[in-house]
Amino acid sequence: MNTHNFYAGPAILPKQVFKKAADAVLNFNGLGLSILEISHRSKDFKEVMEKSHSLVKELLNINDDYEVLFLTGGASSQFYMTCMNILNNGDTAAYVNTGTWSKKAIAEAKHFGNIEVVASSEDKGFTYIPKLDQDYSKYKFAHITTNNTIFGTQYAEIPNINTQLVADMSSDIFSRRLDVNKFDVIYAGAQKNLGPAGVTLVIVKKDILGKVEREIPTMLDYQTHISKGSAFNTPPVFPIYTSMLSLEWLKENGGVEGAEKRNNEKAELLYNTIDNSSLFFAPVLGDDRSKMNVVFKLHDDSHTEAFLASANANNCIGITGHRSVGGFRASIYNAMELDSVKVLAETIKSFDANQG
Ligand SMILES: *Cc1c(COP(=O)(O)O)cnc(C)c1O
Repeated sequence: MNTHNFYAGPAILPKQVFKKAADAVLNFNGLGLSILEISHRSKDFKEVMEKSHSLVKELLNINDDYEVLFLTGGASSQFYMTCMNILNNGDTAAYVNTGTWSKKAIAEAKHFGNIEVVASSEDKGFTYIPKLDQDYSKYKFAHITTNNTIFGTQYAEIPNINTQLVADMSSDIFSRRLDVNKFDVIYAGAQKNLGPAGVTLVIVKKDILGKVEREIPTMLDYQTHISKGSAFNTPPVFPIYTSMLSLEWLKENGGVEGAEKRNNEKAELLYNTIDNSSLFFAPVLGDDRSKMNVVFKLHDDSHTEAFLASANANNCIGITGHRSVGGFRASIYNAMELDSVKVLAETIKSFDANQG
């Protein structure tokens, strides 16, 4: 049975990645040992660490001004770790509130400095991306959430901001071409578009570090992990290995440019189908629509159960909207195949034709 997995996270990964990861659990690199039981200091695992770091650099064209780190604690820990490392007491940072994850980032940042919400889309239920066209030079940094997993909005273009820029890219990293040079810190929990839960990717510009006065606990200091190649303590070996496999898959499939093309095509098909239906609508409009998380609703909620049943009958799984938004959400990350999106589009179409 072919199941079409539209869950928002932990999310779909390429089938070949699951296969290789499963093989390595039983016998890693032909060593007769599981990936789960070898030392993280062994030669074979060190190669995994090097390869995973270098693939991130290669796929995103990252130069030596930046370090790539694989950490633990999820994107949620980066909400405070970033501030701990670059925001002095007394400094002010600018935050953009585009929904649930931004709000959580704001709440944590407040422990470490003054936080100003310089733009918000809360007035319209987070259905758009606010314009960022002011002078931000008085702020230590600005923080954005490039893709809003729950509300289904995404910055079509990364704004030009005249201060340091920090971004939560948990749900759209590697989904499109990216000029890393615009950013000072990028972080992403792996479980949306990179690998399994348990590892967090951080890309940090080295020269912004070492400038705060506070004492930073060893494990929360980016410098610790930079100097130890993400292996100061035992790293999450299996999530890192699986992430490496998915980066290899991405490289073999045209890199981020290839992913961007496929993602555009998938999103266009789905949004067009929704826009052309009479029963459904997408609350987010135009360029602000996420190409990763397609949020859609019924004009008449009484059809909800029937639609979920027909999605289920077509093996489309995980399309219930986030509890704070309602309706439906189809997450169509890198590993989601166009054929699966076609199945969902057909499901929407025929439901519309039969009920509408
Ligand atoms: C899922 C998600 C998070 C939370 O990630 P964790 O790794 O669970 O902490 C943060 N930000 C965004 C945009 C997300 O999609």
